Amino acid sequence: MKINFNSITLKTLLHISIFSLAFIFFTIFAVRTLFVNSYMELEKDKVSLVSEHIKAPLSLNLSYGFTEALTDISTKALENPNILLIEIEDYQNTKFYSFSKYKLSLKEHSDNHELINTIELIDPASELIIGELTIVYSNASYEKYMHSFNKLFFSGILGYALSLLILLYLLYRSLKNLAVLDTALKNFNPKEPEKLKLEGRDKDEIYSISQSANIMIENIITYFDATKELNSQLILSQSHLKDAQRMARVGSFEYDIKENRFLMSDEYYRILGTKLNTSFVWESFLSLISENDYTRVKSTFDKAIETGSQFSLEYTLSLNANKKIHVLTKGKVRKKKDGSVKMSAISMDITKDIQNQKTIEKLAYFDALTGLANRTLLRDRMHKAVQNAQRNDEKLGVVFLDLDHFKLINDTLGHSVGDELLIYISEILKEQTRDSDTLARLGGDEFLILLPSIKDITDVEHFAAKILTALEHKHNIGIHQLYITSSIGVSIYPEHGTTCDELIRNADTAMYEAKNNGRNKFKTYSQTMGNYVDKQLNLEQDLTEAVKSKEQIEVYYQVKMNANSKKIIGAEALVRWNHPTNGLIFPDDFIYMAESTGLMVELGNIITRQSISMVKKLNAIGYTDIKMAINLSARQFQDSSLVPFISQMLSEYDVDPSQLEFEITESISMANVSNTLRILTQLQEIGVSIAIDDFGTGHSSLSYLKKFPINTLKIDKSFVMGITDNDEDKVIAQTIITMAHSLGLKTVAEGVETKAHVDMLQEMDCDILQGYYYSKPVTEKAFKNFIHDYKINN
Ligand code: C2E
Ligand code: CA
Ligand code: CA
Repeated sequence: MKINFNSITLKTLLHISIFSLAFIFFTIFAVRTLFVNSYMELEKDKVSLVSEHIKAPLSLNLSYGFTEALTDISTKALENPNILLIEIEDYQNTKFYSFSKYKLSLKEHSDNHELINTIELIDPASELIIGELTIVYSNASYEKYMHSFNKLFFSGILGYALSLLILLYLLYRSLKNLAVLDTALKNFNPKEPEKLKLEGRDKDEIYSISQSANIMIENIITYFDATKELNSQLILSQSHLKDAQRMARVGSFEYDIKENRFLMSDEYYRILGTKLNTSFVWESFLSLISENDYTRVKSTFDKAIETGSQFSLEYTLSLNANKKIHVLTKGKVRKKKDGSVKMSAISMDITKDIQNQKTIEKLAYFDALTGLANRTLLRDRMHKAVQNAQRNDEKLGVVFLDLDHFKLINDTLGHSVGDELLIYISEILKEQTRDSDTLARLGGDEFLILLPSIKDITDVEHFAAKILTALEHKHNIGIHQLYITSSIGVSIYPEHGTTCDELIRNADTAMYEAKNNGRNKFKTYSQTMGNYVDKQLNLEQDLTEAVKSKEQIEVYYQVKMNANSKKIIGAEALVRWNHPTNGLIFPDDFIYMAESTGLMVELGNIITRQSISMVKKLNAIGYTDIKMAINLSARQFQDSSLVPFISQMLSEYDVDPSQLEFEITESISMANVSNTLRILTQLQEIGVSIAIDDFGTGHSSLSYLKKFPINTLKIDKSFVMGITDNDEDKVIAQTIITMAHSLGLKTVAEGVETKAHVDMLQEMDCDILQGYYYSKPVTEKAFKNFIHDYKINN
């Protein structure tokens, strides 16, 4: 900034000076004139006073002709220092007397601007004008007065001008600092922000402006710092975004339609498996879209370009002859006023998700081994079929098939042969059924075929006979030639039942009847089939007594190993019933009975007490790091005293809750989600762990699993046993392990029977192993011996 006459302050000052000067001049001149006039009046008054004063004696002496007296009076008057000249004109004698102080004539005095006063002299007796008196009065006092007036006036103006100059100087000094401020602000460098330094400042307005400027600079510095911080954050998040894109396999592209320019992000190149510098045009991108999807995708793109809209698409890209990927593309087309049309989109590689989804769907509704419908899907279809039959007044056939002596094959030739046989059988059954039939595997070697819209029982019986013949052969299973027969039970709607459960149970009873009658035959259900039922009734009574006396109930223990360290980390408690006449009965043959007769809660309590007391005993002999897993059944889960009972047992036996785990099956957990969540939360609160048992066989919903406070997933033994020779089982087991880990859960593989199983599971990153390879479930005493020996040998 330059200080010049454009400065507001200077201009204002200048204007003020001009106006005030003009005003001062005007006022002074006005005052001067006023003063001069009044002064002149005063002088005139003085002269006339003198004239009046000497007028009477002069007139008297003039009328008497005393000229000497005239001279005396005049001389006397001339003693007045201001009276310069007195002239008397005598009209009577036409005489003229002049008395001058400085010998100057009237004319000369008049030229000197002296005051001249002329009055008439009147005879006091006749009152006639007898002469004229002229007095010249000095204007010296006026001149003196005016002189000092002017002196005062000019020194006033000078003083005023001087103060203006001082003011100007002071102003200049102030403005100079403004200029300093101006330069400082002009030279302010945001890269190296510095505070303003105005030295020696009074705390005036400029100081306050510089203070404000400093505050502003400080704010700018803070702002810059924040911007810098933001910038580095931005850079960081950009690289995070890149990483995230990479991790999530999300790529992005932009297509400028007008310029025909196509740009892809690095990750998209990676997704497409192309080199980063490969040049890509829109058409080459379109050419990757698989034939099946091309028309749909292209028309969606075209429509979006035409209307400037959003789109979301799933489609397949064929990258080369043997590589296809599924992508999800979401994007939009922006049309701008300048005519530009741009499509921008992100694409996600969802190949794995689609595969996983398929696997999970399969897990939920299909039997993993044979690909047939599982119990869940069967129930669903059967329920609908029953409703349909009811509505249309039709009949429905239920065929229950169980292979004969399958257990023998399994136990002698091994599970993989057993599995192969089951797959083989399911293929034969598929050939024998129509599309409208439902073919399901209920588990083990049990199959069920649902035949809708049959005319009468003979239709179903013909079908059953046809199946028997189709199966009754020697079949080549791997290197084995196996002679297979089966037993079939038949029931029909509505004669043998009106609900799914009833129809299946009665077909099952008929199947037992067929087995009891020498196998390899079918039986149609009839109400007289009491034999099997009677036996069940006797067993039920025996179980009631066994539970009451507690003596026949014995818990066996099966060891669990850490897959990596191969250290013993726990055991599963598995119940056995020492029946006085029938011998050892396995849980599969009486748990369901305890459930249906209301004995389960009591039985469960016996098992829990025995298992927790076992933990105490193990702790006492030094095995303090063994976690005991106890199975919980559906009935126990509905019992309101379950959690209090467990707490009571823990404190009674002084066992730490962390040494206890409860196994529940998926079906229990899914039966009543809110109840499950409540109980599991309570269990979690007391500090015990939860495992989901037989995972993979039921209808599992991932979203629920995420909700439940669970710790472990137990992969069902049917998958574990198949991992070494069945690819599908291997994929399922691996999927479960990966999924469990992603949810922060541990995995247990049960049914580990061979070294190959151990090795593969370890490779799959499974956490815990359990199975016959290490030990069968054994008695309390045998278990103690086992861990003792194992510790010594390992
Ligand atoms: P689970 O909970 O799946 O128990 C594992 C079953 O697999 C046990 O059969 C065990 O003996 C067997 N197993 C263990 N390792 C292998 C192996 O390597 N190969 C083969 N083929 N099988 C193996 P178990 O003891 O007959 O029990 C059958 C089912 O009965 C259990 O299945 C569980 O659902 C139920 N259960 C057993 N004990 C109890 C109990 O105390 N309470 C309740 N509520 N249910 C129980
Ligand atoms: Ca279990
Ligand atoms: Ca299990």
